[in-house]
Amino acid sequence: MRFVFGLTLALATSCAQIAYSNDAEVVSKPYLIFLYGARGSGRAGFAVRLRQDFAFPDISLAPLISNHILEETPFGQKARDYLFKGIELPNELSLAILYERLSQPDCLRGALFEDFPQSIEYYEAMKEQLSPYFQFLVISINASDDYLVERSEHRMVCRTCGKVYVEPTSPAKHKGYCDICLEPLHRRLDDSPEVIKARVQNYYSQLASLLSKYRKDRILIDICGERKYEEIYHDIINAVEANTGIRATRATQEVAK
Ligand SMILES: [Zn+2]
Repeated sequence: MRFVFGLTLALATSCAQIAYSNDAEVVSKPYLIFLYGARGSGRAGFAVRLRQDFAFPDISLAPLISNHILEETPFGQKARDYLFKGIELPNELSLAILYERLSQPDCLRGALFEDFPQSIEYYEAMKEQLSPYFQFLVISINASDDYLVERSEHRMVCRTCGKVYVEPTSPAKHKGYCDICLEPLHRRLDDSPEVIKARVQNYYSQLASLLSKYRKDRILIDICGERKYEEIYHDIINAVEANTGIRATRATQEVAK
């Protein structure tokens, strides 16, 4: 119970947005942006839009490693040896794979990661190996368990395209029907309030020490996730622009309205 109180308190205070800017460093090195947010916070949708608006490539480590293994590259052969033995890949190897991907021309502006890295140890390893070439920025979308439970009760999903609508923050244009494929929307009944609460609490408690490490390193931007989606996204865009010096094209603005 003590933990729950602590969490609520932490989230309440984190709804004030803190921005760090370091003009001297702007655009000198591409940015690796780490985006965090519990399920239901809209994180996945924001990530898709950010990648479009900032032309960041879609990179995640696990599929990257799988591709190397499938293509039997030297990295892939090494990785396969570890996985066959049931041993986790050493950070050095996974970071070398990551660095090779990040050195490709589509990453000149940087890249956006979702829920990654997951541990302080891995973040420290990234800092050690990648900070000569990249800067880091972390965005955490914060919302309390109560808020996400309430939002889930107003959540409708399109079974055809998977788009999620939430009353009243991101409603469908025509009530009950998908904006994109015009199919009828359905309630998601898979999650009880208890399950959602437990998941949200678990999510933020696992991240707590990593987020405070980011805060200590002055690379964390807290975004209040207890608002309309467009307001949240507006703040995320502003945070990325202000801290990286990269301008968004806002290509997704029309789609979102
Ligand atoms: Zn649809």
